[in-house]
Amino acid sequence: MKRRDFICGLSCMLAGFGLCEAKTKMIPQKKCNNPSKDMYIPINKELSEIYIETTFHCNLNCKSCDAFSPISKQEMVKYDEFLRDFSKIKELYPNKDIDILYLGGEPLLNPDLLKMVKKTRELFPNGKQSIMTNGILLADMDEEFWNSMKNNNVKLRVTCHPVDIDRKKSELLAEKYGIELESDVIYSDKLYDINTHKVTKNNLENSEQQKKCKHHWSKPIMDISGSQDYIEKFYTCVHRCFGNSYFNGNLYLCWRHTHLRVFSDYFNLNIPITKNDYIKIADVKDAKEINDFISSPNKLCSYCKQCHNTCFNGKPKEWGFSEKDISEWT
Ligand code: SF4
Ligand code: SF4
Repeated sequence: MKRRDFICGLSCMLAGFGLCEAKTKMIPQKKCNNPSKDMYIPINKELSEIYIETTFHCNLNCKSCDAFSPISKQEMVKYDEFLRDFSKIKELYPNKDIDILYLGGEPLLNPDLLKMVKKTRELFPNGKQSIMTNGILLADMDEEFWNSMKNNNVKLRVTCHPVDIDRKKSELLAEKYGIELESDVIYSDKLYDINTHKVTKNNLENSEQQKKCKHHWSKPIMDISGSQDYIEKFYTCVHRCFGNSYFNGNLYLCWRHTHLRVFSDYFNLNIPITKNDYIKIADVKDAKEINDFISSPNKLCSYCKQCHNTCFNGKPKEWGFSEKDISEWT
């Protein structure tokens, strides 16, 4: 670590403990979405939103998938562990409505998803619940699914990749059941057939829709040498302002930490992931222990090049099917 970076990191750490606020630029939490390089996001975070990594695998196979789904095994959140851990979180934060976002892989592949949605609503009556899905299965979901979305006030966030599927049917179903459906379209002038992998030109309707959307497919940049300055990254990365990530009993600082093991195992990278890199909910004594953990830098950020405002403005690249090559992620 460079000397300047070390001093910078140290001052940030002290600021984190409220000891030298004047030495470190702090910005209000509301500016979290657009921090500039010389601004540091305040810490002392309190748990407020959890991303449940419902499953690691997916029914699509996107190049550079953030969750490393093309190279992951079929792992799912176990319902009994979810029940134990989220009941405990409720005990630790009795007056708080925690917001939940179900992520993956593809959350609709987890057979316990509706049970989790129902239990979450019981535990956190006024918390937001959303499911981030690629939308491929939506049109075929049954009445039980749509009623569950309605009865538990769940929003659907659909990441529409440029694949040739019938989106109209799921939009009509969402409308019929009064479900809020938010579409996030990936820009592409090509259309991919998920069965044959054939590529055609995207039609005008999609292109017009896509023109309105700023979301390009950008490459997540991993640093397999682990030489990024994790303290600086921690204090400047917008992702830290968002939810914390849950998978099978453990809470992680960032969703990327949760999935890092998949990347490491598949490419035999031996990235050390230790018990200091997550917190086991079952062993937690009080809410402060969780709040302290999510408010502290974590070494796993040294494997991630994504930071500052490049988190959302990475160089756009064409969407495509994964060939499971490490160059997609590095
Ligand atoms: S839809 Fe694509 S990017 Fe999203 S989890 Fe599946 S493979 Fe990954
Ligand atoms: S630097 Fe990377 S791993 Fe660390 S919080 Fe930001 S996105 Fe997550």
